Amino acid sequence: MSTPFWGPDFDALQQQDPDIAGILLGELERAREGIQLIASENFTSPAVLAALGSTLSNKYAEGYPGRRYYGGCAEVDKAEEIGIARAKELFGAEHANLQPHSGASANFAAYAAFCSPGDTILGMALPHGGHLTHGTKVSFSGKWFNAVAYGVREDTEHIDYDEVRDLARANRPKIIVCGGSAIPRLIDFAVFREIADEVGAVLIVDAAHFIGLVAGKAIPSPIPYADVVTMTTHKVLRGPRGGAILCRDEHKKAIDKAVFPFAQGGPLMHAIAAKAVNLLECQQPAYQAYARQVIVNAQALTEGLAAEGLRPVAGGTDTHLALLDLRDVGVTGAQAEARCDAAGIVLNKNAIPFDPQPPSVASGIRVGSPSVTTQGMTELDMKDVAGLIGQAVRDEDGAAAGELAAAVRALVARHPAYPRP
Ligand SMILES: *Cc1c(COP(=O)(O)O)cnc(C)c1O
Repeated sequence: MSTPFWGPDFDALQQQDPDIAGILLGELERAREGIQLIASENFTSPAVLAALGSTLSNKYAEGYPGRRYYGGCAEVDKAEEIGIARAKELFGAEHANLQPHSGASANFAAYAAFCSPGDTILGMALPHGGHLTHGTKVSFSGKWFNAVAYGVREDTEHIDYDEVRDLARANRPKIIVCGGSAIPRLIDFAVFREIADEVGAVLIVDAAHFIGLVAGKAIPSPIPYADVVTMTTHKVLRGPRGGAILCRDEHKKAIDKAVFPFAQGGPLMHAIAAKAVNLLECQQPAYQAYARQVIVNAQALTEGLAAEGLRPVAGGTDTHLALLDLRDVGVTGAQAEARCDAAGIVLNKNAIPFDPQPPSVASGIRVGSPSVTTQGMTELDMKDVAGLIGQAVRDEDGAAAGELAAAVRALVARHPAYPRP
């Protein structure tokens, strides 16, 4: 090795554990060969992967920089301090906590900072675009809190702000959560702020999906409006798998204590170092160009799919993702997911608002542009991708799958994710 870095040694892994080594290669191949349209996924840089595969994974560092429960934290302290400073600068936030292990952990901690079991929270219904952690019965959020849900209007498929206000007035929630996993349009944070102020609630913006677009200055930031912003670091943002929380100084103590020691133990210092690497990447002009192209690509893909007869929910997208209603083409979300998969196009079935189908079937699909944009595809490629999806969803008997898969391979060969050496 030419550098003193002691890190990933794939040859050694292959020798020691060919089973797992083979899976790592298989997954790399899978990602390279298909078109990845899962809206919550992306391809991280080799620099981020290097930090993830480092000996920082070994270090116990319970606590925060300068206030640890273990010795030997001088180096990891620097990594976390640099990461926090970069997050505060990038987002214009007063405080940042990079320790949440995931987006769900970040939400758990954020709720814990302000609520006790039994308290009322107001969040977006999952079938309308929210998230499991925004009050569903199968998650802590709906089991331990009295969760009230708002949704979208049936006519516009945009958030029903009147319903949010009415429910807030009627239920007086401790916290109001906005954000979700399948919201194609921008959220009016100012209205949520107004409603939260009127009822004395804490406003938590769960920016897990779109925080990368904020980092790239491609959409408005929730920071001026929210008490707390929770996020993931692995979606559009393109960092390591993980979570983070931004907040106002007044909430700093409560948030830090809620993350550690309330919700978590030792932080994943290799992941925090990788978050810092990613945040530096996000400060570059190239990342801002990326974020803008992500939206251009999502819009081109949505227009192309509309031309194929798939109806864009809420009339289109302002972000990196779109929801398509397949009822006009007589195909369910589950069928579309399977048929696209056979053609090498990876996307997920998704409930649409007021969906007559159960979630396991669903009437829609969700598509996202973060991964294809990272591999250099443009709006011209999105037209081709839309055409391939249009053919695939109608390919009832699988007769076209081979031909479509060949077209997919040709397309990704021109824009390789993780180029071959
Ligand atoms: C992805 C997501 C999360 C959860 O993130 P994990 O890292 O999977 O736990 C939380 N909230 C929203 C809105 C999300 O989209």
